[in-house]
Amino acid sequence: MARREYPVKHGVKVFGTTGENSWFVPVSARDKDWNLSLGHTWQVRRSNFDTMMLKEAEARGTTIMRGTATKPLVADDGSVRGVTVRWSDGKSEDIETQVVIDCSGQATFLANQRVTGPKYLGNYDKQVAFFSQTTGAVRGSGTSGEDAKDNTVIFYAKKFHWSWFIPLDKDVVSIGMVTPNANFLAKKQTPEEFFRNEYYDINPKLRECVPQMNLVEKVHVIPNYSYQVRGFCGKGFICIGDAHRFIDPIFSFGVSVTMREAEFAAPLVREYLEGKNRNGKNPFHEHQIFCEKAIDNLEDMIDLFWEQPFAFATFVYHRYPDELTDAFSSRIYPTERQPSPAILAFRKLLKRTREYDKDDYSVPIGSRYHPERAAIWEPNSPVDTTEQWMGAR
Ligand SMILES: Cc1cc2nc3c(=O)[nH]c(=O)nc-3n(C[C@H](O)[C@H](O)[C@H](O)COP(=O)(O)OP(=O)(O)OC[C@H]3O[C@@H](n4cnc5c(N)ncnc54)[C@H](O)[C@@H]3O)c2cc1C
Repeated sequence: MARREYPVKHGVKVFGTTGENSWFVPVSARDKDWNLSLGHTWQVRRSNFDTMMLKEAEARGTTIMRGTATKPLVADDGSVRGVTVRWSDGKSEDIETQVVIDCSGQATFLANQRVTGPKYLGNYDKQVAFFSQTTGAVRGSGTSGEDAKDNTVIFYAKKFHWSWFIPLDKDVVSIGMVTPNANFLAKKQTPEEFFRNEYYDINPKLRECVPQMNLVEKVHVIPNYSYQVRGFCGKGFICIGDAHRFIDPIFSFGVSVTMREAEFAAPLVREYLEGKNRNGKNPFHEHQIFCEKAIDNLEDMIDLFWEQPFAFATFVYHRYPDELTDAFSSRIYPTERQPSPAILAFRKLLKRTREYDKDDYSVPIGSRYHPERAAIWEPNSPVDTTEQWMGAR
């Protein structure tokens, strides 16, 4: 698909409970003097994006070998020195390497193998997302700004209940719904039945935007997506993106945060391969705290949205529009004037301070809203994976 065929996104529009009021965050860029200017971006299907990334990596000299990492190779001093990989013919092979970069997403390969520190449940661990794609959805009518036809739209219902609408191409829109796990389990329906039955209750505006669900693929389910892994960098390894932390999909940060982490890690890995920074317990310690602080900024923003949505909307529009536009664009890193006055104000409202302990983690860690469950996540618990949920119905 040529670039001009991708839906052009000018921002994110969020509808409040009644579907009558909304607020909008535009896509924007900062120049080198930190001046903000309006911009746009593209909605790209994940499969297309991944293919582009893979082709680019290959063009730059990467050898691609497709297999499943089954076991890390760990030296006596605890450093990671490679992985065992299972190939598609069923054969396994040990691959020795100086650095393992764990990009295994929610599978959290190194955390589940207990190479990292523990994995904690996050604030949004009791929720489940249902999603599919539909044709026939009604988009905005404009070509730019908040009514641009291919903007992302979020529909807020009440705490922990919301829905998304993301145009994927000229015909198809990704639609999804998030709800507490307990609602789904109580209804004893299949994911598709539940999605179809509950979707329109999220927000009255949805009837207008999705007059009919003409689903063009199956209904997917992702449960328990909120977690945080301690000690995600160490001798011979770095976890990137969802392999160490995911908070909540509400504002679509995931891929951009992952990409930015990879960008920050790349020069460090190069230096490591050149033999630099080999001493000490954790050669990627600075990187770890840099990423951790950035995602803490996001977490404070997301938490305030859920805890005090009206205050949040006021901040977006009146007090800190530019700072929030930055956060929505993933300009969240300590080198990007963060934590901004907006994030500091959120912390005040949340009655939260961020102090980093000797292991570079903000305390408390894990679920603040379900303190009884601010617990360590055990791999292979009864509802640990999407497959188990799909099969459980
Ligand atoms: C419901 C929901 C909606 C979301 N919506 C958005 C959105 O609109 N926009 C957005 O930017 N983000 C969104 N996200 C977040 C986004 O999907 C993730 O943050 C992002 O995909 C993380 O990228 P990643 O590369 O870390 O992991 P992934 O994209 O999950 O990639 C991990 C890859 O590793 C592979 N893998 C796993 N284990 C192994 C192994 N042992 N060996 C080999 N390969 C392995 C997997 O097969 C997979 O291909 C959403 C998340 C959820 C839960």
